[in-house]
Amino acid sequence: MAKKQFKAESKRLLEMMINSIYTQKEIFLRELISNASDAMDKIYYKALSDDSLVFNKEDYFIKVTADKDSRTLTITDTGIGMTKEELENNLGVIAKSGSLAFKQENEAKDGHNIIGQFGVGFYSAFMVADEVTATSKALGSDEAFRWHSKGADGYTIEAAEKDTVGTEIVLKIKENTEDEQYDEFLEEYRLKAIIKKYSDFIRYPIKMDVTTQ
Ligand code: ADP
Ligand code: MG
Repeated sequence: MAKKQFKAESKRLLEMMINSIYTQKEIFLRELISNASDAMDKIYYKALSDDSLVFNKEDYFIKVTADKDSRTLTITDTGIGMTKEELENNLGVIAKSGSLAFKQENEAKDGHNIIGQFGVGFYSAFMVADEVTATSKALGSDEAFRWHSKGADGYTIEAAEKDTVGTEIVLKIKENTEDEQYDEFLEEYRLKAIIKKYSDFIRYPIKMDVTTQ
């Protein structure tokens, strides 16, 4: 499977995230949950103007699953999903050059507070994960695809199995180091607190499930 390279701007943002010394790494969850919520809003708005599409509120939710054994944190949504092209275009090329320049300039001036103030998006997952997989099935499509990356050296996209429309993001949580703690992002009480702090206003239910060996 051919590995594709990130565009230069995206790679810079990604490297910033991977090497982040930013203390509030927890905001990655806010970013992923907000993307999940946006994806469900997209179905909601589409249904308003498309009679063939019915929006049943109970079908739309976000699920956060931690597995300590495999060190994975999974964020699943029943949103609009992404086609192969959308995985490529939306996850392969993220930083809009203007906003990246702005972030870097202000980070230099103002410590690293800026990451908390402005959405840094999907790549913030790399602050806590050394491997990210996004499996998605787009609304109206009968095929699913998987985007996978271990960081700045590129990403792959391949065909995948997924029964339902929506997106599943799997983060392989980094190992603790002397200076940085990551285990907490697999702890239910911690995840609940982060969700309460940043995602309380999300209008879809957020379900949680934590398993230990
Ligand atoms: P933003 O949300 O500001 O557009 P992100 O970096 O958070 O930037 O996400 C980039 C894009 O990737 C989104 O605009 C969206 O098109 C796509 N995306 C990310 N996560 C999801 C998801 N869970 N479902 C569908 N599309 C997604
Ligand atoms: Mg976003």
